[in-house]
Amino acid sequence: MISGVKLPNQSRRLFALPAAFLLILLATAQPSALSPEVVTLVKAGRLLDPRTGNVLSPAAVLIENGRVKEVGSPSRVQADAPAGVKTIDLGNATLLPGLIDSHTHLLLDVIVPTEVESARRFNGDFVPDLLLAIVESPSKRVLLGAQLAREDLESGFTTVRNVGHSGIDGDAALRDAINAGRLTGPRILASGRKLIALGSYIQSLNPAVAETILRQEFLVIDSPDRARQAVRQNVFYGVDLIKVALNDDISLPELKAVVEEAHRQHLKVAVHAPDAASIQTAIEAGADSIEHGNDVTDEQLKIMRDKGIFIDITPTFWSGFFSKISQPIIVMSPALKSRLAASDDRRRQRVASFTQRILKSGVKFAAGSDMCWFYPGKTRGQASATIFANLHDAGMPSLDIIRAVTTSAAELLGWQDRIGAIEPGKFADLVAVAGDPIAEIAELERVRFVMKDGRVIRNDLGH
Ligand SMILES: [Zn+2]
Repeated sequence: MISGVKLPNQSRRLFALPAAFLLILLATAQPSALSPEVVTLVKAGRLLDPRTGNVLSPAAVLIENGRVKEVGSPSRVQADAPAGVKTIDLGNATLLPGLIDSHTHLLLDVIVPTEVESARRFNGDFVPDLLLAIVESPSKRVLLGAQLAREDLESGFTTVRNVGHSGIDGDAALRDAINAGRLTGPRILASGRKLIALGSYIQSLNPAVAETILRQEFLVIDSPDRARQAVRQNVFYGVDLIKVALNDDISLPELKAVVEEAHRQHLKVAVHAPDAASIQTAIEAGADSIEHGNDVTDEQLKIMRDKGIFIDITPTFWSGFFSKISQPIIVMSPALKSRLAASDDRRRQRVASFTQRILKSGVKFAAGSDMCWFYPGKTRGQASATIFANLHDAGMPSLDIIRAVTTSAAELLGWQDRIGAIEPGKFADLVAVAGDPIAEIAELERVRFVMKDGRVIRNDLGH
């Protein structure tokens, strides 16, 4: 708003322009991310509704001002469309809602350290590779995030939840730049800095600068008061949720204070909790989602189901991931190779039973990529899309996988009124694949059409 603001003299002169000229300026300065004032008709051979599993064939979606207006058979929808409507015909393709990655790290692009480096410079869970990111320039990292965000969108992820490792405000700034139309990328829910306790997560930093470095990446909590303050500090930087990393080192009163303060500010709390003890603390504190949840017990799944707590599965590492990203770039000793192969096998068995227990429990679940690694030969979007095959290998049916990154993920984010389904009133975020994703889940790794906000981001299919 220009009116009502006291401007310094020079600026006043600048604005002392004829009103008509100002109006032209304002009209042309509309950010391009604003929903285009256009109507578009998208036609495709099939449209999959993940909620019901129903397939509409053939299908059409009418889009107006960036939102879905009508979904139905082409003849019916076309009858309601204005004459001469812009039509995109995707042939026999299958339309789906835009995909949601509920756990990612867009400002992190870790290169696996060599065997020797890991062994000799170990510094807690953080190992040296993640440490490098913290000491990098925040400007450099946010530009990295801009690239990875675009790559995610090009692979069909129209919304992502960024849960830490973004400097102080990198993910919020990236979100705002995308929303303002300065950059092309997915909708971002930004968590700002991760809340941690000093302890095993990161160790052995230079004492002279340790605190300063840590403040670039984390909010350290050591009491309920500090926990509440950390939430407020993140709120100051405009976050959409609070992320806490729990490794058995944050007490129940501290985590309760986080949840209480976050909920008071209408923010959800996502808790990194891999082991049973930290999962228990997260449940008792009233967390909204447990991230990873590797060692969750059946009893905990039951409580989570009853309380409506989500488990956000991160299947990136399930199918020999580290071997796949390491082998092309680092030389491995035969001993490490066989250790990795053995642990890949053990993990395959473990995740198969983990997946079955989750499905059987009836707990709400979503899936996120947790992608923060450089994957040789793949863009960030392609790397993140490897989770679909991993979930399928672990025995999850295709429809459940698709729900985990559409309808269920939207509910996890608290955005079920906006995204996750192709329904009237929702954002026109659509993807299309050439084949049938239920029969062949790998189709989701080959998204051929992406629309966000009614704008075509990618179309390898038709006209
Ligand atoms: Zn993560």
